[in-house]
Amino acid sequence: MNYYSLNNNAPKTSFKDAVIKGLAPDKGLYFPDQISALPKNFFENIESYTNNEIAFELIKQFVGNEIPEDDLKAIIADVLQFDFPIVEVEKDVYSLELFHGPTMAFKDVGARFMARCLSYFNKENINHVTVLVATSGDTGGAVASGFLGVNGVDVVILYPSGKVSDIQENQLTTLGQNIRALEVHGVFDDCQAMVKKAFLDESITSKMQLTSANSINIARWLPQMFYFGFAYKQLKLKNKDCHSEPVEESQNKKLVFSIPSGNYGNICAGMMAQKLGLPIDLFVASTNANKVVTDYLETGNYEPKPSVQTISNAMDVGDPSNFIRIEKLHNNDFEVLKRNLHSYSYSDGETHAAMLHLFNNCNYAADPHGAVGYLGLKKEMEQLENAQGIFLETAHPIKFLPVLDEDIANSIEIPEQIKSVLGKEKVATEISTYDELKNFLLEE
Ligand SMILES: *Cc1c(COP(=O)(O)O)cnc(C)c1O
Repeated sequence: MNYYSLNNNAPKTSFKDAVIKGLAPDKGLYFPDQISALPKNFFENIESYTNNEIAFELIKQFVGNEIPEDDLKAIIADVLQFDFPIVEVEKDVYSLELFHGPTMAFKDVGARFMARCLSYFNKENINHVTVLVATSGDTGGAVASGFLGVNGVDVVILYPSGKVSDIQENQLTTLGQNIRALEVHGVFDDCQAMVKKAFLDESITSKMQLTSANSINIARWLPQMFYFGFAYKQLKLKNKDCHSEPVEESQNKKLVFSIPSGNYGNICAGMMAQKLGLPIDLFVASTNANKVVTDYLETGNYEPKPSVQTISNAMDVGDPSNFIRIEKLHNNDFEVLKRNLHSYSYSDGETHAAMLHLFNNCNYAADPHGAVGYLGLKKEMEQLENAQGIFLETAHPIKFLPVLDEDIANSIEIPEQIKSVLGKEKVATEISTYDELKNFLLEE
């Protein structure tokens, strides 16, 4: 499988090189040269496949022969060590829980998959890579955990001092080994600016292979297709079990996915799964006050803005990096896109109210991102006659304890994954300037 740059000004490259480089030399995002739908009967019989088999079928064409089938299957089995349940919170409204992994946010699958691909490509110890990543919270933890102990990969994580939650800070500063944390005196944008500068700095890139581990990297982005396959399989099984209505009727319902979106990597992976034949009728991009896409669908003008801070901070993105891939998946046709994607934006007040509603009426503790997803889904379903909907619950509420209402916070037990990092010693190097980052990278 070949990948080309969406800036159209760089040579085509292999899966392997696209994963190692992250971004194309012309700063464009990589996109697959060809996309082939899977046979219809795969989706018709999806209940008869295991999760590992579903994942393999969805990703194999994108990896091609660069990782032999048996090795790819082993990587997938190693990545998917936890569950992805759907939970019915109201009739026909399901939460897809993507927080059962080691850092309790959905980024675990992409981070683990990317780490294992890099490690595979470094088998002969000649492709040593340094992953440099800026985080506002969840990405850092997922990358730290996903890459821990992976041969041939060093990880350097920049995070803004005092701006991530205690749990998030523990997740990225206590692991040691090949993971190092830099505590930056500044805000997230400062961290991101330093990372971007490093990628363009020849005095660094001539000495080491830097790569990024956010969703611009195809190995972090594409495995997110799996979630949609797993959810569809479970929904079909539930519809079969449900004796109150005949199977045919539930199968005729429209299927809507609502995805709390920041950089639009997760939703874009869902659209790729749809392209492969997964029968999804409509996507809803649910978001907070950062609503560049919501506005775009309404006005036709795409206007990136500086991000504003909200309680669903993983979605505080003013210029979503994956949106260009979404446009490509819809042939850059605005009308086609508008038929497949709707988008709604919610305030922090509405998000709080939704968390309380879910807790009091549905006995469900959602995190702020999941709550935004729920709101977008409900809004869409009000307008549809006969639909089933799934919202993605992208993080465990414990990760957002400081913004939860007291009753909800008190109801949550601390999960094992969180307990295990709580008492550990924090190790981070404090920096304030780009030169300090550069010295840190070049020191070894
Ligand atoms: C990263 C993240 C998102 C946004 O996902 P994108 O793929 O960037 O759109 C939503 N919720 C949580 C909890 C996240 O960590």
